[in-house]
Parts: sequence; C-alpha cells; structure tokens
Amino acid sequence: MPSTASCPSAYVGRFAPTPSGYLHFGSLIAALASYLDARAAGGRWLLRMEDLDPPREMPGAQSAILQALETYGFEWDGRMVRQSERLHTYNAVIDRLWRDGDAYACICSRKQLQPFAGLYPGFCRDAGRDLKDSAIRLRVPDREYAFTDRLQGEFRQHIGREVGDFVIRRRDGLIAYQLAVVLDDAWQGVTDIVRGADLLDSTPRQLYLQELLGLPQPRYLHVPLIIQPDGHKLGKRYRSPPLQPEEATPLLLRALRALGQPTASELDDAHPSEILAWAIPRWGAERIPHSRTLAEAQLR
Ligand code: GLU
Repeated sequence: MPSTASCPSAYVGRFAPTPSGYLHFGSLIAALASYLDARAAGGRWLLRMEDLDPPREMPGAQSAILQALETYGFEWDGRMVRQSERLHTYNAVIDRLWRDGDAYACICSRKQLQPFAGLYPGFCRDAGRDLKDSAIRLRVPDREYAFTDRLQGEFRQHIGREVGDFVIRRRDGLIAYQLAVVLDDAWQGVTDIVRGADLLDSTPRQLYLQELLGLPQPRYLHVPLIIQPDGHKLGKRYRSPPLQPEEATPLLLRALRALGQPTASELDDAHPSEILAWAIPRWGAERIPHSRTLAEAQLR
C-alpha cells in the first residue's frame, strides 16, 4: 500500500497578482486564503505574475510583490510563471478561435460602444473582417452559465444577455485577462481557484472558455472583498496602503480574523512563517464569512 506521503494531494492552488500596483490588505486576504486552503489540503501553491498590460504596470511592482510575499512568510512551489512569457501560446489559441469562427475581428471604437454600457451590440459579429488592425472578440452563446462557489453558493449569469461578445485581444495586441487566466490555470494544472469576490462576475466567461477549449473546470471559492467606509473596494485605485514589512505579524493576524479563522495571543510576536504554520492545520474554509464584501471598519 502506498503511504499518503508518496501520494501527494491532487490539489493545486495559485495566487495570481497583477503588477499594476503593490499588494494591499485586500490582496493579503486573497493570498492567505488560497495559501491556507492549498496547504491544509496538502496541495501545491503556485505563483503567477499576471503582467499582460505593460502600460498599466507600475515600475517596481513585480519585485515589491515578491518581496512582500516573502516577508509575509509565503512559500510558493516551483518557478514563478509570468504571463508575458506566454504570449505566443495565447496568440496561437486566439488565431485558432478566429479561424474556427468562434471569434471575429472587430473595429468598433470605444466611442461607438459607449451608449451600450459594456454590452457589445454585435456590429462586427457577421462582418467577416480581417485580423489586421482589429480587436478580436469571442462569440458568446445565448445561454446561462452557472457554478457552485464553495463559499458564495450558486452563481448564475446569462453571458449572452449580461456580457455579450467580449474582447480576447485588443487592437493594440494586448491579451485579455479572461483568456490568459483560463489557459494558464489549465496549463498549470490548477484544481482550486481561491480569489476575491470581484472576480465572481468573470467566472461565467471563464467557464465558457473552458468549455469551448475543452479544458477542465476548477473548483472556485471567492473570498469577500474588503470595502472602505465609502463603499469602495479596497484596492489600488483608492490608494490602499501597500503592505509594509514591519506590519507583517499584525496584518496576518488581522487577515486571519477577517477570514473567520482562529488566532491566539501567543502569535502576537510570532514570525510570519510561524503564524502560517500555526494556521494551516486550523484552516476551515467554511468559517469564512459567507458574504461578498466585508467593511474594513468592522475588522478587528
Ligand atoms: N490577476 C488578477 C488580479 O490581480 C487575479 C486573477 C485571478 O485570481 O483569477 O486581480
């Protein structure tokens, strides 16, 4: 009989930051939840830098993100993958989708689309345009996609009516997050996606891409977003303070409490890696508040 030690868990989780800014408390919540969920399952935890948008990248953000993760005690498995290394793969898939008629070239300007509030009216859908100087849009089916989130329960979205055909490669050649994330999660063998609830709305588009490309569907757990008193998401746009090295211990404890997990006073002066080691065997995803947002002011 093989021992459990020689039979590692099939769980593969990941953290996938975008280097458009530094990590903040909201990112710490997502990183911590995905890390503890993976390690408690005996799984692997991967790190992927989602650097698909050089004009929006903040200089120095990639190294600051790595530094913050290390200071906060996170250890990832294997080599960190950068999406900028994988453009060839994304473009090959996009060209195939275009050739097969699942995607089409679109020359609509932002201005033309403004009155439609994000729902593409289909102007270029049947125009048979050439790839040159065009964005590429994916044709979406006229149906609902649903999945059961481990925390948020059932989530449904009719992508035909609520999203419409969406861009997978911009006219300037930038690859859309939705396509890259689906290809990379499958390529890296990710079984469990634990991330912020701001991405719940993106998940049905990702389910459609998985179905279209014949890729497996991972399990999902969307953790609550931390919101500021004015109702804004805690994020880069609202100048959330970047994670500071000297705050690692108190912020990890605060993040654990925000996630509904136990802490102990003996951890008040502990090293970040000791806090993580303490928290792994005590992790219970079912204790995370079952809500999409948490008010920052209410966190202890
Ligand atoms: N790169 C995305 C972000 O930083 C997260 C992607 C994901 O977890 O699917 O918001």
